[in-house]
Amino acid sequence: MIVRPRRSTLVLFGVMAVYIVIQFLWWGVLLLRKDAETHRLATEVMALGGDPGLALDPARGLRMVLGEGIVFLLLLVLVLFLTFRSIRRDLAFARTQRNFLLAVSHELRTPIAAIKLQLQTLGRAGLEEAHAVGLKEQALAEVDRLALLTDKVLLATRAEEGVVDIRTSEVDVMGALRDLLARARSQYASGHQLEILGPDQVVVRTDPEALRSIVDNLVENAAKYAPPGTVIRLEVIHGRDGWRLLISDEGPGIPPAERTRVFDKFYRVGNEETRRTQGTGLGLYIVQRLAQRLGGAVTIQDRPGGGSIFAASFPNR
Ligand code: ADP
Repeated sequence: MIVRPRRSTLVLFGVMAVYIVIQFLWWGVLLLRKDAETHRLATEVMALGGDPGLALDPARGLRMVLGEGIVFLLLLVLVLFLTFRSIRRDLAFARTQRNFLLAVSHELRTPIAAIKLQLQTLGRAGLEEAHAVGLKEQALAEVDRLALLTDKVLLATRAEEGVVDIRTSEVDVMGALRDLLARARSQYASGHQLEILGPDQVVVRTDPEALRSIVDNLVENAAKYAPPGTVIRLEVIHGRDGWRLLISDEGPGIPPAERTRVFDKFYRVGNEETRRTQGTGLGLYIVQRLAQRLGGAVTIQDRPGGGSIFAASFPNR
């Protein structure tokens, strides 16, 4: 069973924290009142010619209560704030993990159900040869989908542990992008217009496998989130300090407030129950980790006219 993280924990903690601070302030007020009362009685005793048995300095008592009270209050507020932040972080992580489990269960169930159906149909007697070939191809495509998903989960785990091997060599980025786009066209981006802009050849030192994974994830996302028929553009800019790869799409864009969080593991914009697109929230996490291993970084910008631009910058090595 996938347990839903409860927001009420945070609310309960907030109420308790406010109650503790109010109680603390109230005890401070009571202490000051008692102090004032003691001094009033001591003054009366002195006026009657007796010995009150304590020094008559009301300002000293006030300084002590206020000084110690403020230090204690600040410590209390700091501890409450740190605890609140840690609970909020744990709840957010539990929420994204829950979304991930829901997404992965869905992503696994769909191809498994399809393969089962294809194998059952293949087992039927008297199936035409052409039909059988078609079913086998569909089943293989579903198996590829499952393999892609498991590769993604494994790569994300390796990236998190920092054990992704980077083997650099001289790579013609433009050639590599053309090959990648040819594959994207035949697989997941057949309904989009794919364009490449840039010089004929840009030779850099990079890890071709990591680069392929970065571009594949970004183009796959562009095809997934931007409507069919729209343009997905890849642009390479080579400068003296490094080179940049811009991947733009005409999709819904990513709100500025989400542009850092989408690179977190399992994070997806919106909620799994209301989201229509399939995914695991691992793609951009992998992209950012690999870009960092190559000495670069990926940022998100608005595309003029709507959509997003994912800008990956790398140093010249
Ligand atoms: P996934 O696509 O599997 O959900 P990602 O890590 O690749 O995971 O992306 C994280 C989230 O960022 C997505 O769920 C989506 O909400 C948002 N996103 C990524 N790429 C795009 C894009 N090109 N356009 C709009 N939103 C995007």
